[in-house]
Amino acid sequence: MNKIENYDFNGKKVLVRVDFNVPLDANLQVTDDTRIVAALPTIKKIITAGGSPILISHLGRPKGKTIDKFSLKHVVDCLSSHLNQPVIFCTDCIGEDTKELCNNLSDGKVALLENLRFYEEETAGDVGFSKQLSELGDVYVNDAFGTAHRAHASTTVVASFFPNDKLFGYLIETELQSISRVIRDGQPPKTAILGGAKISGKIDVITSLMNKVDKIIIGGGMSFTFIRAQNGNIGSSMVEDDRIETAKNIISLAKEKGVELLLPSDAKIASEFSNDADTQITDIRNIPDGWMGLDIGPNSIAEFKAAIESSRTILWNGPMGVFEMSNFETGTKEIATTIANKTNSNELYSLIGGGDSVAAINKYQLADKVSHVSTGGGALLEYLEGKELPGISAIQN
Ligand code: AMP
Repeated sequence: MNKIENYDFNGKKVLVRVDFNVPLDANLQVTDDTRIVAALPTIKKIITAGGSPILISHLGRPKGKTIDKFSLKHVVDCLSSHLNQPVIFCTDCIGEDTKELCNNLSDGKVALLENLRFYEEETAGDVGFSKQLSELGDVYVNDAFGTAHRAHASTTVVASFFPNDKLFGYLIETELQSISRVIRDGQPPKTAILGGAKISGKIDVITSLMNKVDKIIIGGGMSFTFIRAQNGNIGSSMVEDDRIETAKNIISLAKEKGVELLLPSDAKIASEFSNDADTQITDIRNIPDGWMGLDIGPNSIAEFKAAIESSRTILWNGPMGVFEMSNFETGTKEIATTIANKTNSNELYSLIGGGDSVAAINKYQLADKVSHVSTGGGALLEYLEGKELPGISAIQN
């Protein structure tokens, strides 16, 4: 398989699928450039190696229509300033004018093409559209991990037109190495920490992780379905009644597999879903009627911390409570800080993935103190479930 580090990009037009699906404010300014920054190593490598990157991406969900607020022209200034050179914007992503612009791109210059999803052929994985994209470059690089679980034209189908000249960018390479450390070759004991609102959507991940880790910690809203499955009184805490059986099955599977399943022992409960609510700490199995658990309690924090501290590899997906409210953020903050401290002292390898744990790690400014913060929410979960990601196989096969 080709590797970005030693591929010969000299004099080549390089079609690069990036993920520039960034948030924009009302004035169409980029409010969080994390994804742009994440693509820079690949873009810079191609420039230094004498190639010219032709960047393709989606932004938002225009569903096949040309809609100005989803135009990638809004990211040009941000990208140009990061690259320290003007980026040439092309108002279409296919067609004769686009072809001409790409053909005339001199080595070292960067072009950004208009939003792929202005064509519905992109998400449909249309072969004709993919072929048109493929005609723009001599080599194809996929560096968009966030969309690797979609069999779209630009993420999957286009690769088939570059049988010998397709490769991953640095970002996807790093993501794959990081996941591999957690599920395959990392140091035991390995612990997965799962939280957030719902079990549904994470059942397959939990089941699959049973074969890969030594301990599973469950916190956040989803823990109450497990406590309910063990006949605990959870008051008005969030619960998925239709998942109680699933929770029971997960508990027995953990026993069968010898995986230590840690549930919270206490909770910070609130009289209502509000930061100003009355609060108390209770046994998580004895929450009074009308009260709801919105964070893990101090004993749970201590137990979870001890489990993290005795681990060598950590995967964290999902907050321990309603961390968006200051009175219910302690559990999430303490877990994040413990992971960061242990990683920083080289005692732990840590992968943080999934929207809200990434938001939490950023909120506490710990992103540079953990081993890897994944850029793929859905893609990461599907990969951990053991599913084949079309965007990944398209390069590997
Ligand atoms: P998810 O998207 O499933 O990872 O859920 C993330 C959301 O779960 C966050 O917005 C948290 O506020 C929320 N959450 C975490 N713990 C609780 C809880 N105990 N009760 C209600 N919501 C929670």
